[in-house]
This record gives sequence, structure tokens and C-alpha cells, in this order.
Amino acid sequence: MGRRKKRVKLKRKVIRPGKYFQCPRCGSLTLTVSFEKISEEEKIGIATCGTCGLYCEVKVPTRAERIDVFNAVSDMAYEGSLESRCEERKVGPEDMEEHVGEEEGE
Ligand SMILES: [Zn+2]
Repeated sequence: MGRRKKRVKLKRKVIRPGKYFQCPRCGSLTLTVSFEKISEEEKIGIATCGTCGLYCEVKVPTRAERIDVFNAVSDMAYEGSLESRCEERKVGPEDMEEHVGEEEGE
């Protein structure tokens, strides 16, 4: 009696719907897409698969979303041009948050 309920700390684990896509090469649901802005009109969509190591860069308009990059990669796989346009790269967890090429202003 009088026992206090243990407060369960909620882990901050945010799973955004649609973050993972099905890899067109290995079929695993581990394909992620990130973006790298290159200009006001264009950015690079980078699709990486955590299972087979697929690495693919697709130039898209800045308004494009992850699904657009995924569709582009899927199309390439469908056309059979995926292997020639994308390279394989080992991606570690550290690479995901890497900040490369930060420009120092003035
Ligand atoms: Zn894959």
C-alpha cells in the first residue's frame, strides 16, 4: 500500500513515418534518404541502404522530398542503370551525422 508507481521515462525515440524505404537492390526496409543543398534550385538526394551498402546520389529540385529521391532510385533499378550510376559504400552510424564542408563566413 502507498506504493508509488514508478515513473517510466519515455525514451526519446522518434520514428518518422516513411523514413525508411525498401531498397530496390536488396529488398530490405533500410534505405534512407538525406539531402545536401547545393544551390537555391537544386539539392542532392543521397540514398543509402544500411543492409547492402547501396549509395546513390540524385540531383533533385530543392522542393523534392525523400519519396522523390526514392522513386528516382527505384526507376534506375528498374531500368538496370543502378549499378552504373550508384556506388557501393560502407556507411557507419557516425557518417550519418557527419558535417562536412561547413563554410566559415567572413
Ligand atoms: Zn539494399
